[in-house]
Parts: sequence; structure tokens; C-alpha cells
Amino acid sequence: MEKSERITDIYASMVFSEDVMRERLPKEVYKSLINTIANGNEIDAGIADVVAGVMKDWAIEHGATHYTHWFHPLNGFTAEKHEAFLTPVGGGKAITEFSGKELIKGEPDASSLPSGGLRATFEARGYTAWDPASYAFIKDGSLYIPTAFCSYTGEALDTKTPLLRSMDAVNTEAMRILRIFGDNTSRRVLSTVGAEQEYFLIKEEDFKARRDLFYCGRTLFGAPAIKGQEMEDHYFGALRPKVKEFMKELDFELWKLGIAAKTKHNETAPAQHELAPLFCTTNIAVDQNLLIMEEMKTIAQRHGMECLLSEKPFMGINGSGKHNNWSLGTDTGINLLKPGKKPCENKLFLLVLAAVIKAVDEYQDLLRISAATPGNDCRLGGDEAPPAIISIFLGDELDTIVNSIVDGSVYNKKQSKYMSLGVATVPSIRVDDTDRNRTSPFAFTGNKFEFRMVGSSQNIALANIVLNTAVANSFSQFADVLEGAENVSTAIDKLLADTFREHRRILFAGNSYSAEWEAEAKARGLSNFKTSTEAYSHFTDEKNVELFTKYGVMSKTEMISRREIFFENYRKVKNIEAKTMLEMTVRDFIPAVSSYITELAEGINLKKSALKTADTSCEEGIMEKLSGLLGKTYEAYRALEAAEAKAVAIKDVEEAALYYTGTVEAKMLALRKYVDQMELLTKRSAWPVPTYGDLTFGV
Ligand code: ADP
Ligand code: MG
Repeated sequence: MEKSERITDIYASMVFSEDVMRERLPKEVYKSLINTIANGNEIDAGIADVVAGVMKDWAIEHGATHYTHWFHPLNGFTAEKHEAFLTPVGGGKAITEFSGKELIKGEPDASSLPSGGLRATFEARGYTAWDPASYAFIKDGSLYIPTAFCSYTGEALDTKTPLLRSMDAVNTEAMRILRIFGDNTSRRVLSTVGAEQEYFLIKEEDFKARRDLFYCGRTLFGAPAIKGQEMEDHYFGALRPKVKEFMKELDFELWKLGIAAKTKHNETAPAQHELAPLFCTTNIAVDQNLLIMEEMKTIAQRHGMECLLSEKPFMGINGSGKHNNWSLGTDTGINLLKPGKKPCENKLFLLVLAAVIKAVDEYQDLLRISAATPGNDCRLGGDEAPPAIISIFLGDELDTIVNSIVDGSVYNKKQSKYMSLGVATVPSIRVDDTDRNRTSPFAFTGNKFEFRMVGSSQNIALANIVLNTAVANSFSQFADVLEGAENVSTAIDKLLADTFREHRRILFAGNSYSAEWEAEAKARGLSNFKTSTEAYSHFTDEKNVELFTKYGVMSKTEMISRREIFFENYRKVKNIEAKTMLEMTVRDFIPAVSSYITELAEGINLKKSALKTADTSCEEGIMEKLSGLLGKTYEAYRALEAAEAKAVAIKDVEEAALYYTGTVEAKMLALRKYVDQMELLTKRSAWPVPTYGDLTFGV
């Protein structure tokens, strides 16, 4: 990292950006490519060779030796296979080559990536296809070309393809609405996303010393540390030097990749932090979020730390999520969710608001599924993250407007409030129209919606696929009504009133963490899928298949395969967790406690032989407790072992996943309970793994 460089020079220096394209591509080629990027038109295959050549030269000038098609398979991670630009030409000489064909199409043997039954191992062929709308970039000596990934038979095997399709869908349907409102200048509506990312940093040696962290990315055992987050001293606290150094390097690396890392701070739990980039077009925001996670991991290791992206690395303190800030904007720069000075008169805004409210109410289940992972099951509903119930927080002003539209009453806007802090030198500040509600899973925050349920380790694509498609569907239904209306203005008013009336049940401004809300939500008929497995089952419900197929976002086959992968992944994660617990129990904890008991017993004997009247009640007391717990631990171990064996024997993935949720999970928690109790009674130096205190206060 060259510290002398200015951040404006560094920014996007490793991106094949529009600037680089304009500078280097022949004018006609540039125009054609930009037409594809900006307007979503099909790429002109004839220009691929020229673009490839220019890309290659630019990449080599910037130190690249390889290129890779970069794609996002259904395992939730990213995939890459690097090819050198080099081609030997005989006589000990070589040239560099990169053709349009190589840019456009790749053919990874992808048989080891999840396909949910879409591809048998013997039909290993998969294709990657260049996505010109996401910028290529250079990382670690390779030119990364963002691509979509599909099977030989054309089914999408990735998260990007349906995302791009959903962006098309919302564009098409939103444009119909804009035209009805007389907007004839905008040519495109883009969904935009800014994803805030939470994470933990711990010492690398502590990470390596625990099999649960090592294999599962989260702790499966661990008694609470004496101090947790109750002092509220970590949130926004001063950054410790090691963390500061890490964040500094992270910012620089991200800036180079054109990721506008903007905000960084300590989060609620000890060792927890957050990074937020500036928002951008959704497909790019998804690429960027994946890169942010990767860079966090690599850079942490360079600083002797490990970055934990798991949703719940430690029981008893806050877990991590992502806030998926989502909005819609036109190519002419209008944010469709910006209420303006008089939202009650801004009919376009109100209609877009109604479209989102309707979409979220009708597709609560899909949104819930988009945040369903085994890790997130440990987090949602834990009084620290949104509950598993989806609801929308609008804030005072919009709530009042919605109610006045439904009830036909007069809406009176409150005057802007100013607040004085009672200190002459401190200026008065304008108070926002509404307070925040941090318990809401889906909150309006001024000019965007913030979906706060997504887990920290997740790819945010699915959440945005659901949002884009469900909102596209609302727009489509609205446009059908309005395009045929005799009086558009009255039709809009009626549509607003009808939609708000029908979907008002999804609005909730109270405390979403409370038990009262759970009861009330039930009475309102809102869904409440407490576990991922319960939610997954609804992915292919008829109404959901209808939605995705209608807009060409996913075929039924693609949906069935994804549903299969949800369950499959869940089962795999839980299987690894159960096996890790079994192993740690017999190889780490039982030997440690058993040795300590022996040590105590020997001590007692020694003491007694040295002194007939020796008081050994303390040693005996501890020994007795530990020995009782050790027996219970073994019992719990045997129970988990039996349940795990049963789970493994279940052939059907869905059934197996449900068995993990319903049975194995409880056995895991029971085992943990005894081990954690033993931890608190065992000599510190005899405990075989770093404790919660070491882990969360170690850096
Ligand atoms: P908050 O304080 O409500 O979390 P911030 O201003 O910090 O809001 O923004 C949080 C995230 O929302 C940032 O990533 C920001 O870029 C993003 N954001 C802001 N405007 C939009 C928008 N129109 N569309 C999508 N994301 C947005
Ligand atoms: Mg936020």
C-alpha cells in the first residue's frame, strides 16, 4: 500500500471502469459496450475481440499475468479458475493472448459445485458467460471477469443470473409506471443496494486452537466470559491499533477495486465491527459485497487475525448481519423512494411505497427464506436481531399518511422541529421527522428500505432477487389497472387506498422483539417461520413459482433445484457441526477434565497421607461436581452420537435437514450445557481451548 498516493488516485485503479473503457476502446466499440451496460441491451458479439485485447493489455500493464471467469455458484461463495495470458510460440518465445471468445465464454468443469439435481456428475459441463454490466477488475495478479454460470441445458447454476433477470423485470414494470406518470425521459430503472457488513476479528492463534471455529466458523462450546457487551463500551468505541491497521489496509484494497468503503466502526459486541460502502447498482453491489468479505478474510490473516463472518460466532453476545439498503432509481437520477418535501402529494412516491408494502406482505415467506441459513437461525429472534416475522416500519409521518389515505381523513403535516441542547455555542439541530426503529426487519430510512434480516455470511443476491421481482409484480398489477383507466388520477387514488388497506397488516411500529408482537402478528395472519428448514419448504409454493416464472427470473426447475440446495446445505452444515462437537468432546474436553479430576484425587491422597487431619473438602467438592458433570457429558455425547448417526442415515435431504432442526440441534445444545459448566470449574491452565474471554477480548 503506497501511503503517498491520494485516495482519489487509488480509487478504482484496478477496475476496468467506464473511464478506462472510454480512454482505451475505439469509439464505436466503447459506445456499443456502454449501450449494453447502461441500457441493458444485448452485447454485440462482434466487439468482443477488441474489448478482450484492450482488457488484456490494460491488465498486463497493471501487473496481471492471468485471467479468470469469476462466478457465484449456489454454495454461496465465489469461484475462480485462473488461466495465464501466456501462449508459447516456439523458439523459447511466448506471446500473450486473450480472445473475444475467451472473454465471453468459459467452460469450467463444474461437477463439484452444487446443482440441486440439475446436473449429474457425468454431465459435468457448465458454462460461464461474461456479464458486461459488472466491471472486470484486477486482484492478486489476475484479471477477474464477472460471469454468469449455467448448466449445459441452460439452467442458471448461480446467484447472478436470476439477479440480473430480476433487475430486468423491475426495470420493465417500473418503466410502465413512470410512463403513466408522464415521465418520457427516463430510459431505465435500476435497483440500488448498499450493504452494511458486520464481522468479528479474533487472534489467528485462538482461531486455530479451536476446532469449532476452524471447521464451522463459530463456537459450539464456551461458557460466557465474565464481561460481555453489557458495559456498552465497544459500540462506536475508539478503534484499537491492530484493528485500525486492519481497517486501513482493507479500505485501501477495497478502494482500488472501486468499492467505495465509506463507514467503519466498532459494533455492539466486543470484537465486533462494521463496514459500509456507498450504494450502487444491485449487481455491482452484490459483487462488491462478496469481494468485501473475501478481502476481510485475507487481510485479517495478514494482520495475525481471523475474520469471522458467521452469523453467531459466540452465544450470549450479539451476532452479525447485513443491512441490505435497497431502493429504485432512474438513469436520470431520480430516487423513486425519495418522499420529497410533501410526500402526501407525491403520488409517484406513494405508489412506489404501496408497491413495496404489497410486495413485502405478499412475499413475506420468500424474504424470510432469503435470510434463512443455519447460522442465522441462531441469531434471528434473539432480542438482538429482527425476529423471524417480517414487518415494515415506515415512521410517524408515512404511517399517518397511509392511514389518512385508507381512512379518507385529512393529513396535517407536522412542522419541522428544531432542538436546542441548551448550550449557547452548540447550534440548534433539525430533528428528523421520525425516530429510528432498530427492531424492525424492514425499515424505511428516508429514501430507501433497509432489510435487516440477512445474515453476515450470506450472499445478498437472493434477498434482492426477491425484492426486485416481488416489487416488479406489484408494479405490473398497478400498471394493468392504470393503463386501462379512464381517469388515471382517480384510479391512482383508489389504487393507493385499496393497496394500503389490504396490506396495512404488514406495517408495525412497535418493538419487534417483544412477545406481544409475536401474538399480534399471529392474529394479523403474518407468517412466522422460526427455523430455516420450516421456511425453505415454502420456496416452491405455487404462488412463488408463479411469481418467478411469470417474470422469467427462475424456472420451476431452477427453483426446485435451489430448494434442494437450501436443505442440502443446511444438512451439511449441521452434520459438520455435530461431528465437530463429538470430536471436541472426546478428544479435548473429556480428557482435560478427566486428568484434572485425577490430579485432584491424587492431591487429596497426598494431602491425607501427609496430614491425617487434612481438610480436603474443597478438592472433594470440586471433584464431585466435575465428576458428576463428566458423567452427564458422556451421556449427552452418546445421545448426540446416536442422533447424528440417525441423521446421516436419512436419505431424503429435506427429511434429514428437518431432523437436524427438530432433534439433533437439541442434543447439541444439551451437550454444550454440560461442557460449559465443566469449563467454569476446571483449572484455567487445564482447559484445552481458548475461552470466550480470550477470544472476544484477545485482540
Ligand atoms: P443509515 O444510517 O440509515 O444506516 P446510511 O446513510 O449510513 O444510513 O446508509 C446506509 C447504507 O445505505 C449505505 O451503504 C448507503 O450508501 C446506502 N444507501 C443510501 N442511499 C441508498 C439508495 N438510494 N439505495 C440503496 N442504498 C442506499
Ligand atoms: Mg443501517
